[in-house]
Amino acid sequence: MVNAKKPLIVDIKGNSLDDGPGIRAVVFFKGCPLSCVWCHNPECKSPKLEISFNKRECVGCKTCKQVCPTDALDSWLYGYIDRNKCTLCMKCADACPSGALSRAGKAYEVREVIEIIHKDLPFFKVSNGGVTLSGGEPTLFIDYCSELLRQLKSLGIHTLIETSGLFHYGHFLDLIYPHIDIIYYDIKLLNAEDHKRYCGVPNELILSNFIALQTQFLKGGKPVLPRIPLVPGITATEDNLRSIANFLRAERVKQVAVLPYNPLWIEKSETVGERNLYATKDEMRKWMPTEQVKMCQSFFSDFELV
Ligand code: SF4
Ligand code: SF4
Repeated sequence: MVNAKKPLIVDIKGNSLDDGPGIRAVVFFKGCPLSCVWCHNPECKSPKLEISFNKRECVGCKTCKQVCPTDALDSWLYGYIDRNKCTLCMKCADACPSGALSRAGKAYEVREVIEIIHKDLPFFKVSNGGVTLSGGEPTLFIDYCSELLRQLKSLGIHTLIETSGLFHYGHFLDLIYPHIDIIYYDIKLLNAEDHKRYCGVPNELILSNFIALQTQFLKGGKPVLPRIPLVPGITATEDNLRSIANFLRAERVKQVAVLPYNPLWIEKSETVGERNLYATKDEMRKWMPTEQVKMCQSFFSDFELV
């Protein structure tokens, strides 16, 4: 059962330079209403507790196999957990000496998150950094995030939310907007059918929420930065990039972030036992050549690239 009042958090990562201005602490919420086939944080897709196995960190001691009460590790093979047998007791994660097995997801009180983040305050101050809510999709836990953001703002901390845009606009405006400094907003696919096919949900609400937030911004509201992830053969196509650029131009957007493709999601998805067809495609397994990234960015040559 998912507790929306006290959601699971996969990580509270300090010293990030990739998730907004300055040095930031990033809170990764567990759970997302989308299911993008290339999800870069696959351990954040399900809102439920999972066991994660990182084969690179395994030293082969087989302690996990000895402590498992359900023989979920019985057919031992590196990277193999029988997730039908696993009861998520976490005995293996507690016993694993290398950290190869770990719990993906832990519930925190808002107060506990603030305590963890508080030690980074000096770094925020010297770098004009702050806290980023990411995931997963933070707005799935909108009341919790609202309270967390409210407390962060009361400490004078800069706040940013990374969102897929699939939320109830009125709730976002009431509960998140007053406590946020910047919104990073993913725009993945403009074609409705493609969006449903590759992200699992329609994009109408995502686009209409973007238009509403951008309209607010133009009236003096909070900045919204559209972010376009480049995924070979899916989002990084001429048709899609041209359509997104036209859409953003029509909304008088001036800045965009075009995010180069990162194939590390494939290994990460294996840690939580996920297999997907796209992971086997050659172009998905490689970093995108710089020339191709530049070609994709050229569709946004009249925007400021952030
Ligand atoms: S206990 Fe950890 S390090 Fe040892 S075999 Fe199991 S996963 Fe690998
Ligand atoms: S979480 Fe518990 S049941 Fe699952 S593999 Fe580890 S020890 Fe076995």
